[in-house]
Amino acid sequence: QPELSGDFGRIMEWADKTRRMKVRANAETPVDARTARSFGAEGIGLCRTEHMFFEGERIVAMREMILADNEKGRRAALDKLLPMQRSDFVELFEIMHGLPVTIRLLDPPLHEFLPKTEEEIAEVAAAMNVDADKLRERTDSLHETNPMLGHRGCRLAISYPEIAEMQARAIFEAAVEAAKSTGAPVEPEIMVPLVGLRAELDFVKARIDAIAVDVMKEADIKINYLVGTMIELPRAAIRAHSIAEVAEFFSFGTNDLTQTTFGISRDDASSFLMSYQVKGIIEQDPFVTIDIDGVGELVRIGADKGRAARPGIKLGICGEHGGDPASIHFCEEVGLDYVSCSPFRVPIARLAAAQASAKAKNA
Ligand code: PEP
Ligand code: MG
Repeated sequence: QPELSGDFGRIMEWADKTRRMKVRANAETPVDARTARSFGAEGIGLCRTEHMFFEGERIVAMREMILADNEKGRRAALDKLLPMQRSDFVELFEIMHGLPVTIRLLDPPLHEFLPKTEEEIAEVAAAMNVDADKLRERTDSLHETNPMLGHRGCRLAISYPEIAEMQARAIFEAAVEAAKSTGAPVEPEIMVPLVGLRAELDFVKARIDAIAVDVMKEADIKINYLVGTMIELPRAAIRAHSIAEVAEFFSFGTNDLTQTTFGISRDDASSFLMSYQVKGIIEQDPFVTIDIDGVGELVRIGADKGRAARPGIKLGICGEHGGDPASIHFCEEVGLDYVSCSPFRVPIARLAAAQASAKAKNA
């Protein structure tokens, strides 16, 4: 495990005494979570659960779930995934030992889960005991021209509430188990992605709350938890006062917020953005350093409106900008409570947060 010691460790200690904002990490694997902790992360700010389903039997079960044409079929596939998902979360909670862990409900563009080759279609068809031609038809019917603006995030949880219910159950059952094994309280933060409408969050939160009631009854134990949302669409920032009536925390997803504010694809942008920089049209790549005048203004609006509706609402950032020093200074100015970044950027974020606090104190 990497560790920070010696003179560098001492500088980090000074930084920690100076900074106001907490620093968390984006992590979903045990290796990343351990690395994050050894670098001083004070929690997980984003566990991207879709990354937990891309391999082996999990991707087959996920494909069965998406391609099933009825609820019973979906539930059967999810029953296979529940124990795996539960043990994923137990491990993360144990590693983080009482530190906050924000788990985001599934947010893949749907196409990433669809079978692509004939071989994959045959594999899923066999698992589902259906005809491969029928399954190919269903796969084709789910194809989207713009998947990143399509059936993803909370939209999936609304089309297939059983997925959100399975994940909520896995989270709550894991919280009970990890609280027992570590003796430390586990208070999960469940995050709903790509919310643009308050009613979307109402719908998903109602499912999460119902599962919480069931699990608490079954385990005869009280679980404290929060349900919050990503703010990663301009509409969410503009409607943050209304969304904050439901959301108990906000995490600014500045990757998608940059994509949707500029209308520039985050996956394809780099070549022409480079030429924009060379030609002096922009100074910095907005996917690296937050565009303070535009995207940043939406973050500010979202933070202000969120706090107005729910004083003390917990505010963080988990887009790539959470590990970028200049953007971290902006987060301090807006008064976010924490930044969350990739594990290897945690030390940089600790230093940048300290510099930002020192600057604010001296202003
Ligand atoms: C974001 O959009 O900023 C974010 C953190 O979510 P993801 O990168 O997983 O879309
Ligand atoms: Mg996002």
